Amino acid sequence: MRVLAVEDEPRLLSMLERGLAAAGYQVETAANGEDGVVLADDEAIDLVLLDIALPDLDGHEVLARIRARRPALPVLMLTARADLDHKVRALDAGADDYLTKPFAFEELLARMRALTRRVDEPSGTVLGVGGLRLDLLARRVWRGERAVELSNREFALLEYFVRHPDQVLSRSQILFAVWEYDYEPGSNVVDVYVRYLRRKLSPGGEPSPIVTLRGAGYRFDPRFG
Ligand code: CA
Repeated sequence: MRVLAVEDEPRLLSMLERGLAAAGYQVETAANGEDGVVLADDEAIDLVLLDIALPDLDGHEVLARIRARRPALPVLMLTARADLDHKVRALDAGADDYLTKPFAFEELLARMRALTRRVDEPSGTVLGVGGLRLDLLARRVWRGERAVELSNREFALLEYFVRHPDQVLSRSQILFAVWEYDYEPGSNVVDVYVRYLRRKLSPGGEPSPIVTLRGAGYRFDPRFG
C-alpha cells in the first residue's frame, strides 16, 4: 500500500513519513500542492493524506485537481482548523474523510484502514504460516478459523515474526524493527507485547509459535502446532 502525504510543515511531514513506514506503508511525500497533484497522478498511489493549509495551491484546490483525474482515489484531509464549514467544504469537494490536528497516530491509521477497505484489495496480501493467516492490508489475523483481534502494534510484531521464521531475533532487533523510534530506552516493551501476543494467539493454552530463547531473544517457529 503506497501513501502520498502532502504537508508543508516539515516536522509533521517527517513524523508522518516515519510513522507510516513503521506501520508498513510505502510513503511518498510532497511539501507543496503542486508536487502533490503531480505525485497523486501515479497509479501506484493508493491513498492521499492532504493538508488543507498549503502555501501555494491550498488543499481544496489540490483535492479538486486530484479528483478530476483520479475520482476513486481515497483522500483523507488534515487540518488544524476544527470549524464545521471547513469540514463540510472538504467533504463536499470529495474528500473521503477529515482529521483535525493534532491527532493520535493510531486514529490516523484506523481511518486510513477504513478508507482502503473500500478499495478492491489486490491478491497476495495474505501471509499464511503454520495455521496462522495475516491479511496485511486489512490487518486481520486468523488462527485456523478463529479471528484474532490484535492492536496495531501487536499486529506489527506478529508480522515481523512471521516474516523472519526460524531466526534468533534479539530484543533490540525487534525494538528497532517494530517500534523504530517510539519507545523508552531500556524498556521491556518487547517482552510485554510478546506476552500479549501469546495470550491472544493461544487463549486456551494452545502451543505458541513464539519461542523464548533465554538471554538471546525470541524465535518464531513456523511449524508450531
Ligand atoms: Ca500546512
